[in-house]
Amino acid sequence: MATTLTTKVLVIGGGPGGYVAAIRAGQLGLDTILIEGDRLGGTCLIRGCIPSKAVIHAASVFKEMADKTGAGAFGISLKEPPALDFGETIRWKDGIVGKLNAGVGALLKKAKVRALMGWAVFSDAKTCTVETSDGPTRVSAEHVILANGSEPVELPSLPLGGPIISSTEALSLEAVPKRLAVVGAGYIGLELGIAFRKMGAEVTIVEALDRILPLYDEKLVTPVKRWLERAGVTLHLAATALGSRQQRGEFALIVATRDGGEIDIPADNILVTVGRRPRTQSWGLENMAVEMAGPFVKIDNQCRTAMRNVWAIGDLVGEPMLAHKASAQGEMVAEIISGKRRTFDPVAIPAVCFTEPEIVSAGLLPAEAKDRGIDIVTGIFPFAASGRALTMAAGDDGGFIRVLARRDNHRIVGIQAVGAHVSELSGEFILALEMGAVSEDIADTIHVHPTLTEAFHESVLQTLGHAIHI
Ligand code: FAD
Repeated sequence: MATTLTTKVLVIGGGPGGYVAAIRAGQLGLDTILIEGDRLGGTCLIRGCIPSKAVIHAASVFKEMADKTGAGAFGISLKEPPALDFGETIRWKDGIVGKLNAGVGALLKKAKVRALMGWAVFSDAKTCTVETSDGPTRVSAEHVILANGSEPVELPSLPLGGPIISSTEALSLEAVPKRLAVVGAGYIGLELGIAFRKMGAEVTIVEALDRILPLYDEKLVTPVKRWLERAGVTLHLAATALGSRQQRGEFALIVATRDGGEIDIPADNILVTVGRRPRTQSWGLENMAVEMAGPFVKIDNQCRTAMRNVWAIGDLVGEPMLAHKASAQGEMVAEIISGKRRTFDPVAIPAVCFTEPEIVSAGLLPAEAKDRGIDIVTGIFPFAASGRALTMAAGDDGGFIRVLARRDNHRIVGIQAVGAHVSELSGEFILALEMGAVSEDIADTIHVHPTLTEAFHESVLQTLGHAIHI
């Protein structure tokens, strides 16, 4: 016989959407149960954001050391090339994941959230059954927060298994593949492709569109393209992955190229990164009477679904599929359930690509401003003119900061950057947008010298027509 539990708030999924919702609900004194079928932390912490950034960091350290072999740079050289034990790198990454996973468990406990480990299957909108290690448990709740997340999209012609891998397996390989073919030039494919190139893999990237990182404009993406070229990454654009074959003992990706030809790309691994889709199967969503918006669960601006007191957040509800969006929605829903008045109405949701160099985008891109009929003035400051960038040997990668401000009232509507370390500037960018800053607000803010933030100040000065250092 199943144990039966009742609760005020039931959260499904322990990713950055679900665990944040549960902690906030617990903090607000709401009786809360969280159910997770895999490991606390979800995609982001266990097989996404955190592991990928750890591997990217290790790859960059290795590349920097490899570049210093022989003649070296600025007086630093290595006599021998550095050695890489990728298995050890993965164990280091697993250690970080383990710490954060335990941390989430401790935070849930501190907030008095009951965490159940097992796969939840709903029989109706407010009742699910979980197969826990102690047997089946039935949970019914007044409020249900769905934070089931997403899973990688598979290509029928390249079913995952063996040498054909998704980002999950790529982040747990025992050795760096000698030859890696990446299918899909979105941010996950590029981040991982670049990291493996830095660690010595021969990397080929195949993309069906005729450009990489299609969410960004050409100018922003150019420094990344330049890095790929210089690093010897082969790029096949407007090319389609048709499948794989084993021929004369060699495994290869079959690709239809732009000119109508067909080529084999020999590879030890094929990494498929063609997107992610919301996880809507095999947990009884069809029994909950919620409405759908395409593949996603449909929500309003408070993350309410069509079923009363069933809420949905994170990757399950749509783009952008980013951890910080999921967390912001989770926190908000917990507060609404506790009686606070909240709506999800951010000015913008910033996004970062941890490529080489990094890209940040917050707010409108130039084409988006144009589409909305906003007359903008643009300020651009190149890192080649930033003292701080030069002191970090980061001035020659083509990086820059770009600010878009309305011509009429100088309100800043978009900020983008490409360059080394720019991910850490994203906080200032989004704060400026969320606070409704006009160019004069940033111009009158004293920025620390020497830091990369000065380049933001300068690009804003440029929108006012009086940048100092350019
Ligand atoms: P998830 O993190 O997917 O969590 C959902 C959880 O629900 C899972 O743990 C799953 O096991 C559980 N679950 C689902 N159904 C059930 C059920 N029926 N019963 C029990 N448990 C269930 N985002 C960023 O913002 N920055 C990055 O740098 C970044 N890098 C990424 C790199 C990679 C390689 C990948 C794959 C993703 C990356 N992302 C990044 C995206 C980010 O991981 C997701 O946007 C984020 O994890 C979504 O959070 P979520 O809570 O909606 O879902």
